[in-house]
Amino acid sequence: MKQQVISVVVPVYNEEAVVFESYKRLTGVLKALPDPYELIFVNDGSRDATADILRRICGTDPAVHLIDFARNFGHQTAITAGMNYASGDAVVVIDADLQDPPEVIPAMIDKWREGYDVVYGQRAKRKGETFFKRFTSAAFYRVLQKLTDVDIPVDTGDFRLIDRKVCDALKQVKERNRYVRGIISWLGFKQTGVEFDRDKRFAGETKYPLKKMLRFAFDAIASFSYKPLKLASYVGVTVSITGFAYLLVVVYEKLFTTMTVTGWTSMMAVSLFFNGVVLMMLGIIGEYIGRIYDEAKGRPLYVVRETLHVSGAEKLTGGEPAPAHGREGRRHPLAA
Ligand code: UDP
Ligand code: MG
Repeated sequence: MKQQVISVVVPVYNEEAVVFESYKRLTGVLKALPDPYELIFVNDGSRDATADILRRICGTDPAVHLIDFARNFGHQTAITAGMNYASGDAVVVIDADLQDPPEVIPAMIDKWREGYDVVYGQRAKRKGETFFKRFTSAAFYRVLQKLTDVDIPVDTGDFRLIDRKVCDALKQVKERNRYVRGIISWLGFKQTGVEFDRDKRFAGETKYPLKKMLRFAFDAIASFSYKPLKLASYVGVTVSITGFAYLLVVVYEKLFTTMTVTGWTSMMAVSLFFNGVVLMMLGIIGEYIGRIYDEAKGRPLYVVRETLHVSGAEKLTGGEPAPAHGREGRRHPLAA
C-alpha cells in the first residue's frame, strides 16, 4: 500500500505550560504509526513563551512545523491556517491542552481507511470542566441544531480527522467569522464519529472566557441560520395581535366605563418593553450587517509573521495568493 502522510494541526494560544507535553504525547502516538506524519503548530499570537518553546522544538525535530501569526486571530482562524498549510493525505485537528487525547488518533485513522472522509471525535464524558461550561455547551449544540438546516453533530468539537478532498473543499470556503466544524458538516462527504472521554486540561486555563464563548456561539448560529432575523417578524406579529386586543379593551373602557386615563405606569411599562424589543431586533440585524461588512472588506483571514519548516507552496495569508508579508524559513536565533 502506498504510504500516506498524516498531518496534525494544533492551534496554540498562550499555552507555555502545556505545549511541550503536548508535543511529546502527540509525537509518541504519531511515531508509533506506520505512516509518515507532520505536526503543524499554529501559534495564534501568544504573549507568553509558547513561540520560543515551539521554535526550539522545530530546531530539534524536522517533523514539526510552525506557523506564527502576527497577532491573535482566534482559534477557528488558526485551525484554518493549519489546514491551508497541511500537505498530508489526512489532516487531524487537535487542541493543544490535551483535553482531546492524542491516543484517539489511530482509531480515527482506522475509520478513515475504512473509507470515511470526516471522522469527528464525539465527547462521551467531559472531565474537569465546570457544570456551567458543560451545561452551556450542551444547550448550545442543541439550540444550534434546532436553528440550522445543516446537520451538525452534537457534542463534537474541532477534534477530527478530514481527508485531503475535504481539506481542499474547505479551502474554497472563504467566509470570515468561521465556524469550522459547521462548515465541514455543510460540505457533506462521508462522515462518522469516534467516541472519547474528554480529559481535563493538562495545565493552564481555558482560552474561551464567557465573552469569547458567546461570540463563538453567535458566529456559529449566524453562519448557518437566518432564524434570529425571522424572530423580528414573529415577535412583531405576536406583539401586534396583543396590541390590537388591548386596543379593544381600551376603546371598550372609554365608551362604557368611567375608568379612563388612569395609568401613567402602564404606559411607561408598555413603552419600555417595546423599546427594548425594538432595540434587541436592531441589535440582531446589526450583527448580521457587521458580518456582511467583514466579508465586504475582503481582508485576508490571517497574517503570518514567520513560518518554520513549512514546505508546502501555501500562501502566507488566508486564501489569497502569495503576498509579501512573512518570510519562509526565517529562523529565530533561539531555534538552535
Ligand atoms: N486557542 C487559539 N486561539 C484562541 C483561543 C484558543 O489558538 O484565541 C487554542 C488553545 O490554545 C487550545 C484550543 O484553541 O489549543 C482550544 O482552546 P481552549 O482549550 O482554551 O478551549 P476549551 O477547551 O476550554 O473550550
Ligand atoms: Mg481546552
